[in-house]
Amino acid sequence: MTHVFHRNPRAELPVAARGEGPYIYDTSGKQYLDASGGAAVSCLGHSNSSVAKAMKQQIDGISFSHSGFFTNQPMEDLADFLVKRAPANLDRVYFVSGGSEAVEAALKLARQYFLEKGETSRTRFISRRQSYHGNTIGALAAGGNQWRREPYAPLLMSVPLISPCYEYREKKNGETEWDFGQRVAGELETALLDTGPENVCAFICEPVVGATMGAVPAVKGYFKRIREICDQYGVLFIADEVMCGMGRTGSLYAVEQEDVAPDILVTAKGLGAGYQPIGAMLVSEGIFTTIVNGSGFFQHGHTYMGHPVACAAALAVQHYIEDNDLLSSVRHRGAQLAEALTSRLGNNPFVGDIRGRGLFQGIELVADRMTKEPLDPSLKIHAKIKSAAMAAGLMCYPMGGTIDGQRGDHILLAPPFIINDGHIEEIVDKLGTVIDEIVG
Ligand code: PMP
Repeated sequence: MTHVFHRNPRAELPVAARGEGPYIYDTSGKQYLDASGGAAVSCLGHSNSSVAKAMKQQIDGISFSHSGFFTNQPMEDLADFLVKRAPANLDRVYFVSGGSEAVEAALKLARQYFLEKGETSRTRFISRRQSYHGNTIGALAAGGNQWRREPYAPLLMSVPLISPCYEYREKKNGETEWDFGQRVAGELETALLDTGPENVCAFICEPVVGATMGAVPAVKGYFKRIREICDQYGVLFIADEVMCGMGRTGSLYAVEQEDVAPDILVTAKGLGAGYQPIGAMLVSEGIFTTIVNGSGFFQHGHTYMGHPVACAAALAVQHYIEDNDLLSSVRHRGAQLAEALTSRLGNNPFVGDIRGRGLFQGIELVADRMTKEPLDPSLKIHAKIKSAAMAAGLMCYPMGGTIDGQRGDHILLAPPFIINDGHIEEIVDKLGTVIDEIVG
């Protein structure tokens, strides 16, 4: 009997024993190809010796120093690294231990920013349906994932939700991609006017949706329009890149491909690639100086913020990616994976959509390709695919989200950036067979 309170206590999980490259092995020696990166975390795969060396060196130096007493060199160096490569306005980095913490920090910072400016009514947030910003109670309230929210209602705040810009389901027949993007971005203006712009502090969204729908990028022009609307009404734009950031879509920051700069950008997962828990919030100089020149103190903090070993690990991860030009690999291998998925599954009558960016690829399964009718939710197809894939030695990240009240079955692939031709073949072969078996 286990004494661990597993989040799904009925699930029988194998015991992870070791990892090597893109593979994890359980205690029976069974091999699993990590095509999900856990949950888009393990971008270097497992047991990277450069990262291990950097962590050991840091532990031998100083393993923990509280941020209330000391700064530390890896934290300073990591902040430099992130800022030098970030959109021009993002100049300050606030470190935390994970994605939800980074989102909580962003929500609180947005509120404090307006408080310092004397705009005390600006307390509300707007976000998008089908979004996930974390599981802590504030981040949960800011997200639009009904399934995760329902058990905890009423949440601490109510957040108006706009469309997620999901081309496959929302673009009207005959509408151009551009018009579609402008139309759905316009929902932000409508939501602002309904809420009263003077009551809103920020709009939060994922530049490429991850955990609820599986790698859904917005269409061209959408984010430029979002930025314009935020500027017009004096609202901050928070980009949640916890899942899609740190190179996963082929650029270090996903917003680079949208040619917009958010006021706050949060990241986690791939930042430390699973070697240590870490998250970060990048902040514009304008917000930072408003706080410094106002009360002088951000009323927020966590015990492990800027943990020296976590920062040393993340710095080693990010240097490894850069030194080995892994962002080029993400773009190249991502295109190869998308092509292989399309050729293996493109004609499957239950595969509605295959989309994504870089090594962040998603598939939506449907009951009927013509009508886009979702699969019957009671069949729990996504869960069956996960189990069958694990049995076949493949980790993929399936999800049953809610699309305007309807369930939808999606599969997310987010393999390590180090995958080769053989790994792509193995992913597509195994996933193709599993999908044929479960829904075919
Ligand atoms: N934001 C996004 C976009 C995420 O995908 C996640 C995690 N899936 C989070 C926030 C929360 O991150 P964490 O699980 O590290 O708290």
